[in-house]
Amino acid sequence: MSESEIIGKGTWIDKLAHELLEREKNLGRKLDLIRVESGLGASGVPHIGSLGDAVRAYGVKLALENFGFKSELIAYSDDLDGLRKIPEGFPDSLKEHIAKPVSLIPDPFGCHDSYGMHMSSILLDGLDKVGIKYEFRRAADTYKKGLLGDQIHTILINNQKIGEKISDLVGQDKFQKALPYFPVCANCSRLYTAESKEYIADEKKVIYNCHDVEIGSNIVKGCGHHGEADITKDLGKLAWKVEFAARWAAFDIRFEAYGKDIMDSVKVNDWVSEEVLNYPPPHHVKYEMFLDKGGKKISKSLGNVITAQKWLEFGNPKSILLLLYKRITGARELGFEDIPSLMSEYNELEDIYFGKIKVDNQAKLVKSKGLYEYVNLLNPPKKSGTHVNYRLLIELSKIFKEDRKQRVMKKLLDYGVIKNPEPEIENIIELAGNYADEFDQQEKTKIDLDESTKKALKELSEALKLEEEPEDIQNTIYQIAKSNNIEPKDFFKTLYQIILGTSRGPKIGPFILDIGRQNVAATISNYT
Ligand SMILES: [Zn+2]
Ligand SMILES: [Zn+2]
Repeated sequence: MSESEIIGKGTWIDKLAHELLEREKNLGRKLDLIRVESGLGASGVPHIGSLGDAVRAYGVKLALENFGFKSELIAYSDDLDGLRKIPEGFPDSLKEHIAKPVSLIPDPFGCHDSYGMHMSSILLDGLDKVGIKYEFRRAADTYKKGLLGDQIHTILINNQKIGEKISDLVGQDKFQKALPYFPVCANCSRLYTAESKEYIADEKKVIYNCHDVEIGSNIVKGCGHHGEADITKDLGKLAWKVEFAARWAAFDIRFEAYGKDIMDSVKVNDWVSEEVLNYPPPHHVKYEMFLDKGGKKISKSLGNVITAQKWLEFGNPKSILLLLYKRITGARELGFEDIPSLMSEYNELEDIYFGKIKVDNQAKLVKSKGLYEYVNLLNPPKKSGTHVNYRLLIELSKIFKEDRKQRVMKKLLDYGVIKNPEPEIENIIELAGNYADEFDQQEKTKIDLDESTKKALKELSEALKLEEEPEDIQNTIYQIAKSNNIEPKDFFKTLYQIILGTSRGPKIGPFILDIGRQNVAATISNYT
């Protein structure tokens, strides 16, 4: 790649922002404020993937600003969405609220104005903690204030055309019979049970009937109420198939990413936006989906959700930003066990950025530096921080459970890994300590080993297992390497890789004594 082909800071984010700008220029729209949007879930416990939507849209906003444009991120919570199932760990009493808009359901924990706001707040708090700035909007207010009034009206008078197109595009026939608008039943406050088939355009009212519907695999009882709802002021909402389009047009949104799971909705909304609302839809990108390590998509309503809050007990905010800014497409397995390598990867990027690691490939250099800048939200530090290997901290944390911070810090000073205690290192010791306490099983590092190294490892493992403490572990390791025709420095490197997942570390003999001979013997024997 030559210098002239590098766009912005050389990352996918810059490329995306550039495409967006080119498209906007072709469309001839005003560019004095470019709004990007991301959706926030309000129905289930938000996993780190939902955070990703907003974090990445914020990246695009930063890239647009870097190109000299004014931009804003709208974080939109669909809190008129109806509750479909009770998330794991939530009280069964929520059952009576199934199918009600989440903003009308009381917060089971009593700390927010509604169930929906409780869920959204978890996500907003996550965004605040990683430093993302946004303009918060919620469906409940949007509809109450009638901000989508014109769009709803236009959509409803075109409902036949839209119903046919939905059937054509995605094979869903439902909206050929019913309007793509769900009133909230005035009698039972349920959403999907109230079906409307008729729109009285002059009065801007829909006529509805509250009847039994199937949600998931359960039947939700309707109350039998027949009623009318005024689309400009009564509670109700557009179906997702047409709602994004209404919002894009009303809020003037120029960019919105989406996950594979809502691809059909986006397809229909693009058409509605363009053909019904006369508003060219925003630029899109399909982002990667996160799978839990079992290969299942991380579901918003499954327990053990990987939330930003839980992640931040073990990793710093930069590890989240790095995870989300690294790339955008594909599908990725995700678990807390990814934290140690993300923590190391950040340090490596910082070393590249400050020229401590040389990278010859110009394209890779630019991209790495760019990624580092985005992970720092385009406000990178002026100088490099002190780096301590996170896995080393995990190992030391396993030994020191009391007065951990002081004692681990002292070891780092003894080993010569750091020169002075620093608050930032103290933070990372705390994170690694939490990690050591929560997950004691370390992921086996993958290393290719030749036969003589395997044999040497076997000998070392046996020597370490002996009842009696070897006199000089450092020398024992050295001798074992020599007798197997291995360069001692290569053997040390292999040991660091096995124990710490890195090629360097504190002086190996004393370190092995510190973290326990038997432990190390057991770890090493996994590789023989
Ligand atoms: Zn709450
Ligand atoms: Zn009802």
